[in-house]
Amino acid sequence: MDTCTMCQEQEKKTHRGTPHNHLVKIDDVRLFKGLGHRHYEEQDYQCQLCNATFTWSSNRNDLAWTLWMG
Ligand SMILES: [Zn+2]
Repeated sequence: MDTCTMCQEQEKKTHRGTPHNHLVKIDDVRLFKGLGHRHYEEQDYQCQLCNATFTWSSNRNDLAWTLWMG
């Protein structure tokens, strides 16, 4: 299945980018300890239109929005 247009746009968003209207949270936010006093969060989302799954990460070393399947 192809990802919908909104998910294709979602991949390009930055760390501050908000999930599009059809992305719903799946599972709880995950907290990670980073280097020093830094920590970061990850949250999984699934699109209700195309079933694509995203992981959002606040880790600046990672992509903000990672698409897992579409
Ligand atoms: Zn989608």
